[in-house]
Amino acid sequence: MIRFLVFLIAVYIIYYLIKNSIKGRTARNTYQSPQGHKEKKPDVVNTHLKEISYVYYSSAKDGDTCDVCKALDGSHLLPNHKTLHNIKPPHTDCKSSKGCRCTLVYVTRDEEGSKEIESLLKRHGGMCDKQTIERGLVR
Ligand SMILES: [Zn+2]
Repeated sequence: MIRFLVFLIAVYIIYYLIKNSIKGRTARNTYQSPQGHKEKKPDVVNTHLKEISYVYYSSAKDGDTCDVCKALDGSHLLPNHKTLHNIKPPHTDCKSSKGCRCTLVYVTRDEEGSKEIESLLKRHGGMCDKQTIERGLVR
């Protein structure tokens, strides 16, 4: 009878140890998964930035649009171009009575024809005016 009890206790201890080691493993797994998630986060941001093919400048193009805005209208830039920050609308020196209504349009890579414009921009140092883009795409 005592032998049987000792056997039972031994089985219980083994069972307890196995249960603990499984618990430890699952605990480690759940600890690793949020870390993996953290490592993925900057990748998501990077892919998001990589998805932008080019940026173009869009003015209101009506009678109230000032000459500076009109001249910049249709300018295409690569998203990492340093001039992008300088021409970012609204202009402080905009002469329009309605104020600067210009915007930058961000075009993603899944847009049709974005690859052609992006490679055209790369060949032209990252920035093209409207005419250069039109001429470059006709060819
Ligand atoms: Zn403007």
